[in-house]
Amino acid sequence: MKKIYFGFLTFIIISSTHAQVSPSFTVLERKIHSNRTIYRSVQLDDLESADSFDGKYFKIVEGKSNEAIKFHEADSKLILRAASAYHHLTIARNFWLKKIDTISPMSLEKVIIRVEIKNLYDEQGHFANDNRTPQFNNALSIPAGVTPEWVPEDRQHAWNKEIWFRPMKKIESKDLPGLGPNPLTVSLQALEQPFINYTRNRFNQTIMEHIFYPTYSTNTVWGDVIRFAGTIALTKAVIEASKHMDNLFVEKYYYLDTAMVPEVIYHEYAHLILSDYMDMTHSTPVIEGMADYFAAALSAKRKVYAKVRGYSNAAAKDTESKKDYAHWYESNMTATADFVLSVLWDVRETLGEKVADQVVYEARSFLTTRTATINHHLIQAILDACDRKCEKPRRDKLKLYETFSLKGF
Ligand SMILES: [Zn+2]
Repeated sequence: MKKIYFGFLTFIIISSTHAQVSPSFTVLERKIHSNRTIYRSVQLDDLESADSFDGKYFKIVEGKSNEAIKFHEADSKLILRAASAYHHLTIARNFWLKKIDTISPMSLEKVIIRVEIKNLYDEQGHFANDNRTPQFNNALSIPAGVTPEWVPEDRQHAWNKEIWFRPMKKIESKDLPGLGPNPLTVSLQALEQPFINYTRNRFNQTIMEHIFYPTYSTNTVWGDVIRFAGTIALTKAVIEASKHMDNLFVEKYYYLDTAMVPEVIYHEYAHLILSDYMDMTHSTPVIEGMADYFAAALSAKRKVYAKVRGYSNAAAKDTESKKDYAHWYESNMTATADFVLSVLWDVRETLGEKVADQVVYEARSFLTTRTATINHHLIQAILDACDRKCEKPRRDKLKLYETFSLKGF
């Protein structure tokens, strides 16, 4: 009896020394059916390294480094960020593989995830120079790229698709930088949303449309240039003005640690998946709304990007927002608004989760980055996708027409 017992013990010891024991990490999660956050100890899947956040599908690095962050790194907040990002990226990848049932994640090379990166993205050089306008409080996904031939050999460089999470920085409302140097390359400017909401409440819709969408009918290249330049300039002016209008409407400080907000991570991963049709260097209401839809579907909460104590007090987006369509939602300035999310969520309520997820995903194949308007292209793309994915397209499209008309289209 003793002998058998001893033999059994030895077996356990031997086999446990050979098995891959993945270490546990503390990560931040939201509670089920709630936006409250908790810290939980989890094991990370598919790690390839025994001492750093280098896995089969994701490698978490700090700033411009290409070395994975080490488990024994002294900065415990950096470990928390790296572990949380890795954990939620794994959840996102599994969601797309199993729930959306697409093999698209498999076509991605190992994705480098940069936390605490301040550099602007540079299409020709990967990272803009360190002293060019450091970035905080946002996240973005970048496309694969390569330095042009004229760049000296020692700086020649190629990169795959990546996700960047900026450092958090408490910024006083009065010092918020407006839309930043190039708002179209920044995919999450949630901090400006309180000002946009505030501004919207102060002016009636006709005035807003006039200000933000003056050349709606002249859809020429020149019209686009005027609209773009005009929108940025006016947005900056309005945001600037609203900061001084009423202190009760805005908080004193804003901050957003994007690597610590689960839905931001889901949103950025969705950009990678949708990038087979939707360009990651552009941030339009349609592109952002699509990524928001999948972030919301994955997190199964009514409100996405809700506050996280100590890490974000940015505004949440409401999947059930009751706003009606207005032309000014076409403006790129409203890429951070929740209007498109609420339209797509109505589609989900009309068709049911399973079919709607397929329809919204399929819709991307009818959309191109530059032309995608909400009231024409997105609506049409949903209807076309329904032809391919709905159970009874004729019946379901009639339901969708009604849904869209209730939303003001
Ligand atoms: Zn985005």
